[in-house]
Amino acid sequence: RILLTQVLDRERENVKGIAMTVQDITREAELNEAKSQFISNVSHELRTPLFNIKSFIETLSEYGEDLTEEQRKEFLETANHETDRLTRLVNDVLDLSRLESSRVYNFCAVDLTQLIEQTLRTYQLNAKDKGIQLVQALEPNLLPVLGHYDLLLQVITNLVGNALKFTNPGGKVTIRAYEVKSHQQPSQIRVEVADTGIGIAPEDQEAIFDRFFRVENRVHTLEGTGLGLSIVKNIIDKHQSKIYLKSAVGQGTTFWFDLPVYREEPISVETTQE
Ligand code: ADP
Repeated sequence: RILLTQVLDRERENVKGIAMTVQDITREAELNEAKSQFISNVSHELRTPLFNIKSFIETLSEYGEDLTEEQRKEFLETANHETDRLTRLVNDVLDLSRLESSRVYNFCAVDLTQLIEQTLRTYQLNAKDKGIQLVQALEPNLLPVLGHYDLLLQVITNLVGNALKFTNPGGKVTIRAYEVKSHQQPSQIRVEVADTGIGIAPEDQEAIFDRFFRVENRVHTLEGTGLGLSIVKNIIDKHQSKIYLKSAVGQGTTFWFDLPVYREEPISVETTQE
């Protein structure tokens, strides 16, 4: 009704107004379409582990007595595993929807050395278990950047998690951080996460940032939601920066992004829902 009134009002004034209103509707329709698509994808993704959990529990309760102790244990472990997957999915969906809603983030000085060391500590054991060398190459006395600590921690966590997931034993994952000086703009700190893993084919390199996109390969069944990189991209966008990648199949992948060196007073960055 509101839209109709606008059209009628504008029609009296000039014709250009109508075109503008129509464009607005198209944009809104596109966003609604994207939202319903997302909800439909989420429901689909949630249904699979739920279905699996239910099937295992049903089988156990109906035929549990006919199964061996070992089989029962295996069923329970798989159900437990599926529950973990469900939890990860729900957490990722919540993170993404929080990031996409209108919200004020307080940006302040972030010590990347501390943040990267914190991430590596949590992954060191995992890397050792997988026989992957996890190393950091941080420039000494790295200047603080302007950003949001927890969000950036999530970025590094997701990137390193992926690097470890898609790298075979004997491989290496390296996190670098160094200052990039430029005449045109203030200094930036570049953060790189490089692996010697399976790589990403050129035709998939753009799509990996889409929600739920996962490259079809034998690692597909590994734990993962297909939301990790959407979250990363969203957070880097919030920092008014961009994420880049360079990859060669069978050789490895490097993701990197730049953040401005912290110089001013803390500022609030307001992000509005599109
Ligand atoms: P997932 O939960 O599946 O890891 P992401 O959004 O984090 O979801 O990543 C999407 C897909 O991009 C992954 O399933 C994988 O196919 C590909 N990918 C991401 N990081 C890497 C990497 N370091 N090496 C190879 N492939 C990767």
